[in-house]
Parts: sequence; structure tokens; C-alpha cells
Amino acid sequence: MIGLIAITVAGRASAARLAEAWPNETRTYDGPPKQALHRAWAECDGLVCFLAAGATTRLVAPLLDSKWVDPAVVCVDEAGRYAVALVGGHAAGANVLCARVADVLGAQAVITTATDAAGLPGLDTLGWPAEGAVARVSRALLDGEQVGFEADATWPLPALPVAIGGAGLRRIVVTDRIVPIDENTAVLRPPSLVAGVGASKGVAADEVLALLDEALAVGGLSRGSVAALATVDAKAAEAGIVAAARQGGWPLRGYPAGQLAAVEVPNPGKAALAAVGTPSVAEAAALICGDELVVTKRKSAMATVALARIRPRGRLAVVGLGPGDRGLITPRAIDELRRASVVVGLDRYLDQIRDLLRPGTRVLRSGLGEEDQRASSAVAEARKGLAVALVGSGDAGVYAMASPALAIAGADIDVVGVPGVTAGLAAAALLGAPLGHDHVIMSLSDLHTPWEVIERRVQAAAEGDFVVAFYNPRSQDRDWQLGAALEILARHRRPETPVGVVHDAFRPGQRVLVTTLADVDPAVADMRSVVIVGSASTQTITGRMVTPRGYKWQRP
Ligand code: SAH
Repeated sequence: MIGLIAITVAGRASAARLAEAWPNETRTYDGPPKQALHRAWAECDGLVCFLAAGATTRLVAPLLDSKWVDPAVVCVDEAGRYAVALVGGHAAGANVLCARVADVLGAQAVITTATDAAGLPGLDTLGWPAEGAVARVSRALLDGEQVGFEADATWPLPALPVAIGGAGLRRIVVTDRIVPIDENTAVLRPPSLVAGVGASKGVAADEVLALLDEALAVGGLSRGSVAALATVDAKAAEAGIVAAARQGGWPLRGYPAGQLAAVEVPNPGKAALAAVGTPSVAEAAALICGDELVVTKRKSAMATVALARIRPRGRLAVVGLGPGDRGLITPRAIDELRRASVVVGLDRYLDQIRDLLRPGTRVLRSGLGEEDQRASSAVAEARKGLAVALVGSGDAGVYAMASPALAIAGADIDVVGVPGVTAGLAAAALLGAPLGHDHVIMSLSDLHTPWEVIERRVQAAAEGDFVVAFYNPRSQDRDWQLGAALEILARHRRPETPVGVVHDAFRPGQRVLVTTLADVDPAVADMRSVVIVGSASTQTITGRMVTPRGYKWQRP
């Protein structure tokens, strides 16, 4: 039993939400907090106190005996923003209770026990149906116990601290098959099956679902792994099929008859050919969505169903980390880092984000200049079926890892790009509003691009009166290129044209300089700088670079 102790109005409202969510598990204790807590302590194995951590600590302190007998204590702040596992994290299950409370209240779970458990993905948070001893196995993971892991195939899962293929008292099994489960086994159902469905006009949803269940039973497969229903376009609005999909919570995909007709199937039929123009609906549609037919066509009075299995695909997320400041990493980038089981990147970027990774994440680091190797190892890991994040500073597609990786990534993996704040935007924000009108981004590195090409592009930017943001402006070995580029621009622009130099934007050691084409000393820039040169209309206004948005409406 879980005891709920609240005294304030807000606390009682949160307590009521828990009571409603877990009607048979909770008991609400009213009255003065001390008495309420004493009674709950005696009667419950878990306590949720809607009180400050300090107040809760004082109340429970005299009651504490040992972690083997004390109940779990979780406290929740007045605003319901945090649920804190205060006492009995492991033995009494406060960590698990805390996570459950946080789930219901939309609060953040605060777990402070020594195992690095806080970063674990909950088994029920992967978005896959979970069956069996989910709570017990989650608890074992939180407690740092060795948990065995078996899977039919490699799925792109987040890092789990499990013994892959190895033994443990508790185990996680990832399968779409019906398997015997004991009290120590949690089964995760991957989205690995697709049901091809055909039907005559007026079929009932129940008939479709019953036939689907029959097909699953014949194949020894679980409904929890059905990822989608597929049919021919002409049947995609058939009420019984639509309702069956809705009841199962599955998307319904329709395909043109011509596409289905081209699929080779074991059981083509004349009736379907006459009715909808393809010899097979169920088997062909299943095979278009899936990779391998696992249950051939089954028929009822008005429906047909066949099942295909979808081979899992690896996932490559190409993730921009922004210029360096934690506040400029996007939440989606953080999600992708936590979703990955392998993270690939340059040493110094990985150091920035190590604390964001889940425990057990494999980190493949490499040094500067090893771009091709980084790209190919990221792609190779994704090809194994894993969830990989390839990270880069700024935006990973701007003079960075996305292009070498995607140049070799095949159609056999999913690729997800997460944009980041690129250095040019970071520098611009520090300088003012230099990019308010048309601009170009250029790299001055002639390591991979002949200088003649760079020169021609600078010339074009100069003639086109674009604002220019130079990346890689200058290094120890490339010390003349920036000067040469500025000279080209100076031939087309006034000497007072504003120039901004930003070193280490949004990083420790940040320097921001606004000067002019006449005065700028190329030596102030280095490999950690961006140089932005204004256009004919760029002005310096109270020390800030401003490029007007238009030509007419802003002119005085
Ligand atoms: N993918 C990165 C760019 C890589 S090229 C991005 O989108 O930002 C490397 C160049 O980017 C450096 O030579 C420098 O010119 C620029 N750069 C990257 N981060 C920077 C920062 N924080 N401050 C200033 N310049 C930066």
C-alpha cells in the first residue's frame, strides 16, 4: 500500500491525482502531518509526502530503523515539479516509486542513489509494449543487478546496462514470439510485424481482428508486435478495416493495386484480381511493408490476413551540438544522444556532452583529421542495427560530419538529422544583426578546396554585395588566406564597412570584436573564430553590426 500525505491545497490536489491513477494501491492520510505520517509509516510500504524535503526528513528521522524494514519515502514539492526519492531507494523501492510518481504528475524524478541508475531508460518508456515482470526487472536494473538480455534481432535501442546474451537472475527478452515467461522475465514487443488485410465490402471490424488474432496464434506471435495494417488503396477506407486499425492503435497503410500486383506471393487468387485488380491483397501488402512473410494468407467469410516480419533497421542520428554552451544544445539533440547506444565524435565534443549520455553508452572517440574514419565507423555501427549518434559542433552538416557519413550510408539504415546552432549564427548573435539580409557562408580552408576556387567565390560574393561569414579563417599553417580574402572584398566595399571577429563564441574565452575593413588585422582571427564582413548596407550602431532588412523602408 502507498500512503499519501498532504496538507496544502496544492499537495492534496497532487495526492488526489495519484489516488485516481492507482485506486487500489493508495490510501490517503489526513490530519496533522506528524500523526498522518506515523500512521502511514506503520501501515504502508511506500509513502509519498507532498511536503518539503526538509519537513519530510524531520518527520521521518525518529522513525528510521534500517533500509530492510523502513518503507520507501518519496517527497513531492508544492508545485509538483520534482519527485524526490528520499529514503529506501533500492531496498524499499523508493526509486521505482519516485519514477512512477513523476510519470503520473509530469514531474521530474530526482534519484540520488549511488548506482548510476538515474540515466536508465525505463522498460516501459521505450514506446514498446512490455509484458511480464516489468516492475521487477526495472527494479533490478535500477539496483545495478546483472540483468540478462536476449533479442531475436538487433534493434536500435538506447543503451541498457544489461549483459547482452548473458545470464542474470532477471532478464529482458525482446521478441515478437509468444514465449514462456517466468516471474523474473520482462518481454518487450518490438514493432516487427505488419498485417496485410483484405476484405469484402461491409466486413465487420471484429471479423478482421478475430482473423488477425488467429493468424498471430498460428504463427505463435504477439499482437503487441503488430506495427501496422496494410491493404490496397481501394480498401483503405473500408469501415471495418479502418475500425480494426483504430481499435488496435495501428496505422493503416494503403498501396495502389498495381504495386501489389507486382509482388510475388505464395497464394494469389482470382477473386481479388477481379475485385480490386491485384491477385493478392493481404500477402502482397504485408510484403510491401515487411521483409518476410511469416504467416501466409488466412481467410474468413469476408476477410483475408497475412503477416510479414519487418527486419529492424539501424538508426544514424547526425546531431549538431551547437557552439559549446549547454543552453544552445537543442532538446532534440539531447533526446537523440540519450536514445543512442553508440556515440561517435571528436574527443573534445564528446567531453562536452559525456554527462548527457546514458550509462552504458559506447563512445567511439577520435582525433582531428580522422573524419573519414569517424564517418565510416558511425555508419558501420548503424549497419549492425544499432542506434548511433554522430555528433559535431555547431551544425553537424556545416563543414562537418554529415556529408562524409551520408555519402557512404546506404538505404539499409534510417538517418535522422538534428540541426544545431552553427558558428556563423552564434557569432552573428554576439555581433548584433549582421545577417539581416542576404549572406554567404564560406570556408577559407584550402586543405580540401583549391585556393583558386575559394578566391573565385569570394570575388563573386564581393560583386554580389553579400555579407560574408568566413569559417576556418586562419590557422598557423594558413596565415595569408584571410588577408587575401579581405583584400578582394575591400576592392568592392567602403573602408568603413563593419567587420566582426568572434573567437570561441558561447565558450569560455569568448572574444567579440567589431572593427572595419580598413582597420581589421587578420592576425586577430584563428581557427576558433568566425569573421563576418558586412555588405554595402551594413552599419555599426552603438557598437553592434546591423544589416538592414530591406533597401527602401529602412532608409532615413
Ligand atoms: N560544424 C561547425 C563548423 C565546423 S568548421 C558549425 O556548424 O559551427 C570549424 C570552424 O567553425 C572553425 O574554424 C571556426 O571558424 C568555426 N567555429 C566553430 N565553432 C566556433 C565557435 N564556438 N566560435 C567561433 N567559431 C567557431
